[in-house]
Amino acid sequence: KMQGVGNGTEEKILVLVRLRPLNEKEIAQNDVADWECINSTTILYRNSLQERSGLPTAYSFDRVFRGDCKTREVYDEEIKDIALSVVGGINSTIFAYGQTSSGKTYTMNGITEYTVADIYEYMKMHDERVFALKFSAMEIYNEVVRDLLSSDNNQLRLLDDPEKGMIIEKLTEETLRDWNHLKELLSICEGWDIFLLDMRSPIPPLAQRQIGETSLNEKSSRSHQILRLTIESSAREFIGKSNSTTLAASVNFVDLAGSERASQAQSVGQRLKEGCHINRSLLTLGTVIRKLSKGRHGHVNYRDSKLTRILQPALGGNARTAIICTLNPSRSHVEQSRNTLLFASCAK
Ligand code: ADP
Ligand code: MG
Repeated sequence: KMQGVGNGTEEKILVLVRLRPLNEKEIAQNDVADWECINSTTILYRNSLQERSGLPTAYSFDRVFRGDCKTREVYDEEIKDIALSVVGGINSTIFAYGQTSSGKTYTMNGITEYTVADIYEYMKMHDERVFALKFSAMEIYNEVVRDLLSSDNNQLRLLDDPEKGMIIEKLTEETLRDWNHLKELLSICEGWDIFLLDMRSPIPPLAQRQIGETSLNEKSSRSHQILRLTIESSAREFIGKSNSTTLAASVNFVDLAGSERASQAQSVGQRLKEGCHINRSLLTLGTVIRKLSKGRHGHVNYRDSKLTRILQPALGGNARTAIICTLNPSRSHVEQSRNTLLFASCAK
């Protein structure tokens, strides 16, 4: 933990690595899992050929999770505190970073669900306050921000408001009635993936294969998705009185575009443009995270990408941040896994 300049205690960014198990297809192809967590903080690459290559074999982080651990453990042991700081008025952001098919969405879905359940539990236990829980969802694709809850808002503008700071113009914000309402809204968000899949421009067959596993993964591998829960509350006894104040904070769940996008050389037309934009958001995020992880102030270039601009109020300052780096364990993906761990190392 570092002491920040100015407003109180500054939290370091929490950096976690989560391995996933080999899936059936990988096992059928005789793929081998070469990564192993040797304790709760160190992950090791075990492959005698690579060991002689001079590349590092051991990487350490705040916490590493084995392939057979449950999302529940990741949440309970590392994420819960950060995500729930929102009920005390502190913004937070949970990122999933990793190559396509490494387990980002799998991890974030579980974590979002557990957080919401705990927030409902908290609201139930605190009858002395009146709460409103709000939900919004957006996607950044080619540096264009789309509202995932409304088909009309597919080019949202980011505006600087003198009082409120940065606002996302026209972004839909739904006040949640209950748990089922959220599930309904989440299914609307997921619907977009399928819709856009049909609308997409043709992709050369080779590139299509490289994108991998399922075609559903294809769209999400190219865009950043942000789900945001905002909780507002006021003390019941002061409601309607002049000294009533509202406490408000947001927790952001960010499922990043596949990290292979940051490194892959893009070749033609649309794909080149995409590559550059995804590069910009992921690279800017990397730069911002590196600055924040050093615990120093000075200029942080939030404005260089839509992603960091949108997340600025929930990054740095008093906000709390965790990055879950998801790792495909297989030998055939070792280069991408190393890139992911390199990003993770820079963030810690
Ligand atoms: P990404 O979002 O990074 O592209 P996904 O979350 O879609 O990857 O995961 C790819 C596949 O692997 C999915 O079928 C998912 O269910 C499975 N998977 C991912 N992580 C795990 C895990 N920790 N345990 C079991 N299966 C997992
Ligand atoms: Mg995904």
